[in-house]
Amino acid sequence: MFVNLKETAEKLKSAENILVTSHINPDGDAIGSTLALMQILRSMKKNVQVYIDDNVPKSFLNLPCVDEIKRPAENEKFSADLFVVLDTSADRIGKVSEMTDAPILNIDHHVTNKGVDCDLHLEVEAAATCEIIFNIAHELGAEITENAAICLYTGMATDTGFFNYSNTKPSTFRAAAELVERGVQPNLIIEQIDKRTFQEVKVMSAALRTTKLYFGGKAAGMFVDEELYKKTNTTEGFIDLIRVIDTVDVAFLLTSHEKNICRVSMRSKNANVAEIAKRLGGGGHIRAAGCTLQKTLEEAKQILIQAIGEYLVETNNISREEFENCEEISISNF
Ligand code: 5GP
Ligand code: MN
Repeated sequence: MFVNLKETAEKLKSAENILVTSHINPDGDAIGSTLALMQILRSMKKNVQVYIDDNVPKSFLNLPCVDEIKRPAENEKFSADLFVVLDTSADRIGKVSEMTDAPILNIDHHVTNKGVDCDLHLEVEAAATCEIIFNIAHELGAEITENAAICLYTGMATDTGFFNYSNTKPSTFRAAAELVERGVQPNLIIEQIDKRTFQEVKVMSAALRTTKLYFGGKAAGMFVDEELYKKTNTTEGFIDLIRVIDTVDVAFLLTSHEKNICRVSMRSKNANVAEIAKRLGGGGHIRAAGCTLQKTLEEAKQILIQAIGEYLVETNNISREEFENCEEISISNF
């Protein structure tokens, strides 16, 4: 069932013991929104715990209260009367789904969220779940402390590519401006997120050399195999290196995290990559989406190129002949 902002605030107000989670492979919005909501609800004297069934990426380890994020142990339970799932539907939260039977309040901005078996507050126009949490804080009349503001700003900044992507709205800037008034220093946030070790830059450069173009340059892909991935365990920001290519509409990054598990990230300038991801069992936003394929890197590559090509044919971006005679252009021929 869909619930509006007011009903969402009411549900939070009437709960006492609240379990908060977000998706596996957490990003800045997942970490920022859970930490901010935790702080806001604790200021209202609620008993709140955050569990995420994954590691917190290095870029976000300096966020205020980040140590409060726990990973569920085997069969661990939390006695909650409300279970808040942020920035994803409840099917991408790993073992946290087994921690409680409390009713789910799902707060999200992904167009592919269908809200099964929960109360869903969905704002697809919100740039980030953090922007929704900002609105909820106002609806609750709760104070946004400097620490909560830092968490909210981080989620909004990372989901909008630092206020550059097409999801950036006047409301996003207004919220961000208020967060800066509350003490956020944008330069310090980007410094923290963009910081890389030399080893990471080396891995990035190796990944860049795997770049291939498809469909006359309309699609570009990067491939990180298990061996390369294990050197730093991050591919944060890699896709941004190729989405800038002038001919490219769809950019993708294929990463083999472990044997037969490939993560797909997609970005686009026009194409609806949420639709492509959905066909492969994933989801996301129109211009940023992803999925997981339980395949080898080579198999996943074929499946993904096929799916992107089919989509480009259907949307009249390439002809069926161009699709069938697709040539792979490699950067390493340079
Ligand atoms: P990223 O490429 O940054 O991992 O993800 C881009 C967007 O797509 C994010 O909003 C993310 O939540 C969403 N997304 C990525 N992978 C999946 C997936 O496997 N399933 C769904 N439903 N969404 C995904
Ligand atoms: Mn998000």
